[in-house]
Amino acid sequence: MNGKAALPNEIASKSVKALLKFSQGHYTEAEQLVLDLLREAKDDAERYSRYLFYGEILVKLGRWEDARGALMHSAQIALNGKNDRWLVLSHEKLGDLSVLEEDWFGALHQYRYALRKVSSDFDGSVAERLAIKANAVQSAIRSRVLPQDTSIIPLTREYASGNMVISFVHRDIFLKTYFARCLECNFCHDWCCSFGADVDIQNVEKIQQRREEILPFVRPPEGEWFEAEYEYYEEYDGNQYTRINPQGPRCVFISKDQRGCGLHRYALSKQMDYHEIKPLVCILFPLSFGEGILSLAPELDDDSLICSGSGCSAYQSIRNELEYYFGREFVEELDGVEKEVLSAP
Ligand code: SF4
Ligand code: SF4
Repeated sequence: MNGKAALPNEIASKSVKALLKFSQGHYTEAEQLVLDLLREAKDDAERYSRYLFYGEILVKLGRWEDARGALMHSAQIALNGKNDRWLVLSHEKLGDLSVLEEDWFGALHQYRYALRKVSSDFDGSVAERLAIKANAVQSAIRSRVLPQDTSIIPLTREYASGNMVISFVHRDIFLKTYFARCLECNFCHDWCCSFGADVDIQNVEKIQQRREEILPFVRPPEGEWFEAEYEYYEEYDGNQYTRINPQGPRCVFISKDQRGCGLHRYALSKQMDYHEIKPLVCILFPLSFGEGILSLAPELDDDSLICSGSGCSAYQSIRNELEYYFGREFVEELDGVEKEVLSAP
């Protein structure tokens, strides 16, 4: 670095060179040029297009994880700039990358997310192209994935709540059981709250706004309640999330001097709906969601959950919460799936 800013014609010539190297298949050289261009980007439009191009170069280099990072970075820029056209393009590219990886559920999720962001201002061909891609992936799931993995069951339609969308369910949610009557448990010591939890950016803002009111319900904080860094994830409200920090062996929000979640207790004390303030992943635990599939949280799936074993099925214990978020029709369809799973030989 010599501190001298690149002149516009130098940048233009670097951009042309990068494109040329890319078209000639010299991807490593194209990468070096685009990294320089990224350092020299002056505004979001330049940063966005260069991250998108960087993602394409990394795909060609077979560095798929890095490519995903670059494309998610482009999506984050699109989100910050409230630019739905960019957001749609970034998610389409993420879908294309998932196809290369043969991550069919991921691809379907990305194309459908992009489709939901297409508004009437868009050229009709964008929605058409995305629908064709989504349908092709859906066919691949039906013909190639589901026959191999009968544990994943397709639902008759998509069910959405905010940015969460479910169209498949893992059969184990009906089969795996755990103690479930959390506040009556005399052996777990809130084990499942040992690690903190993911929390979306909108939820963080709500908690911070009520900080003074929440403080009497939780232990005196020894540090920050949340990690400072946010990551992009389109399935959470606000498309970004961070983590709640633990404090000692438990989450910072464990109730002071009592069992259970301090945020939940705070909400009840204010006669407020706890869904307004308690993180979604905590409410749905031990279920989990991602890429359109409702499944078990890893701790129950791998039996590391201290109270896994006899008790209620994960589905039955969380059924009311699923109804709250996704509606009656959703749980009625799941009830039908449950009957089939439980009656299967
Ligand atoms: S899910 Fe299990 S470990 Fe977590 S609070 Fe309830 S009983 Fe305890
Ligand atoms: S926010 Fe509440 S439910 Fe979630 S991990 Fe912390 S204490 Fe447990």
